[in-house]
Amino acid sequence: MKKKQFKAESKKLLDLMINSIYTHKEIFLRELISNASDAVDKLYFRSLTDDSVKLHKDDFCIRITPDKEARTLTISDNGVGMTAEELENNLGVIAKSGSQAFKRENADRQEDVEIIGQFGVGFYSAFMVSKKVQVLSKPFGSDEANLWESDGADGFTVSPAEKESFGTDIILYIADNTEEVSYDEFLDTYRLSALVKKYSNYIRYPIHMNVETSRPVEGKEGEYETVVEDRTLNSMIPLWKKNKSEITEEEYSAFYKEVYYDYEDPLRVIHSKTEGQATYNALLFIPSHAPFDYYTKEYEKGLQLYSKGVLITEKCADIVPDYFNFVRGLVDSEDLSLNISREVLQHDHQLKLIAKTIEKKIKSELVKMLRTDREKYEKFFEAFGTSIKFGVYSNYGIHKDELVDLLLFKSSHEEKYVTLAEYKERMKEGQPAIYYGSSDNIEKIKMMPQAETAADKGYEILYLTDYVDEFAIRTLMQFEEKPFVNICSADADFDSEEEKEKLKADNASFEEMFKLMKEALGESVQTVRFTHKLKKHPVCLSSEGVLSAEMEKVLNSMPGSNGVKAQLALEINEEHPIAEKLKSLYENDKDTLVKYAKLLYGEARLIGGMELEDPVTFAELVCELM
Ligand code: ADP
Repeated sequence: MKKKQFKAESKKLLDLMINSIYTHKEIFLRELISNASDAVDKLYFRSLTDDSVKLHKDDFCIRITPDKEARTLTISDNGVGMTAEELENNLGVIAKSGSQAFKRENADRQEDVEIIGQFGVGFYSAFMVSKKVQVLSKPFGSDEANLWESDGADGFTVSPAEKESFGTDIILYIADNTEEVSYDEFLDTYRLSALVKKYSNYIRYPIHMNVETSRPVEGKEGEYETVVEDRTLNSMIPLWKKNKSEITEEEYSAFYKEVYYDYEDPLRVIHSKTEGQATYNALLFIPSHAPFDYYTKEYEKGLQLYSKGVLITEKCADIVPDYFNFVRGLVDSEDLSLNISREVLQHDHQLKLIAKTIEKKIKSELVKMLRTDREKYEKFFEAFGTSIKFGVYSNYGIHKDELVDLLLFKSSHEEKYVTLAEYKERMKEGQPAIYYGSSDNIEKIKMMPQAETAADKGYEILYLTDYVDEFAIRTLMQFEEKPFVNICSADADFDSEEEKEKLKADNASFEEMFKLMKEALGESVQTVRFTHKLKKHPVCLSSEGVLSAEMEKVLNSMPGSNGVKAQLALEINEEHPIAEKLKSLYENDKDTLVKYAKLLYGEARLIGGMELEDPVTFAELVCELM
């Protein structure tokens, strides 16, 4: 019999398929089961419309039969089957959608292999695990069966054959083990069940397999016998396709924990059916806690993507924005094709539409949670708030307006979480700004001299303790027309106009003294001056430029930082006895004034929760001046 050649494109693909990397090989089973299911679908629909087809939905099934001795794995279905002509036409050329990806000129080979692994290209994937493939098929209503056979490389044959009933058997002659790859696993019932569960759990027809198990012999204690059990491997009805009203909270939780490997129930379930421009079912979960690798590079965001109940990809990253990277779950859409490649997917219009509506859904669900279940929302924010804040800050704040309502900060008002709207609502009349303090913990902020002054004025302070907080706040710049002001910045001005005038005059008359002190401190500060904003504290450091002292610390702790510096002013409480002391030193003992300047600067750093730049010199000065 003359061998027929594969079409050119199919040949190239076949070659790639055979050489595909090991971890991708397992998807062959998904592909073959999907084909079987499609074939069954076709016959099932005929049975609904054609009275001569006397078949009931329950008659249909798919069967997997591994044979370790013969080293074959057979996937059988009782679907429409194929004629000799169909065998030749359908299996002699690769599916159109799949081949699209391979038409690119100068295609990178490794990349192509990746595409196959990710999405598969139908029937050909059989060659990833087989040295020979046979397809024995008999169309429904025909007496003639045919056998298609190929060992991959150089073509295929089709010849008449015997087959008892209609449908198709795909017989894979599993490849011999190599040094790198053990193909034996594809003959193992345990492994095969797991693969069906992973990829084909929601196929609408039962997938059967005979599984050997041992069970205790009745009446004979301690004795076991091996029995063959006919098992259905798939659960068939996807949870997300059921109506919400039919699903209990326990079912959602059990599904979540099983599929996404969590030990804790999800905090929130979002289950939606969307129709219109994009038609899809989504089942999304907000976890109760951050996964252990959440804050590492290893963590990958993404949702599972299904097309008509068949898994296309385990993690589709493009479907959720980075700031919602904690959301787990899946999207099932009829609009997506199973054979879609990763690159096509990235630019897929339909997927973009889906992503947009998914984002809206997550946002509105979070807002709802914030309004109706504050306790849960705070738990959520404790776990994932950093992501939201990072979302505000990243990309030059392009998403800040969508995210601002989701923010929470602890504040001086009972040290509880507040939203910006709540803060604004409570603001004192005439309060010009939203004030915040920034440090790595609340206690340090509370001890800042400026915090005391703000409290005296009756101003609430936001406590910014997460490294990203101040960056996010700076990106926002203002909330409902109220600017954000760091209590430690020169802009945090709690004085009246008269007080300001008086202070200005005082500072002017001691200009020379401050110049001397500033020189003693070198680059550490920009200026030295009197202030009226401190109560009992003698000194403080205020930031003058865009960077606060806390931001300086964060930026400098990042890899590759090149030592940015906040511009600081050393401010001295004019009402404190130390002011008089400085004035008299300026008149009588300039050497000691210089030492005092250094000491006060160190003290200001300590009070502000910062580290001393030179603790040894500071300690020596303390002793010397005691
Ligand atoms: P696709 O499924 O994307 O069309 P495949 O290469 O997997 O691409 O299959 C090519 C064609 O072969 C299918 O469209 C179908 O017509 C036919 N086919 C494959 N498997 C079966 C089967 N088990 N029963 C009937 N027809 C099949």
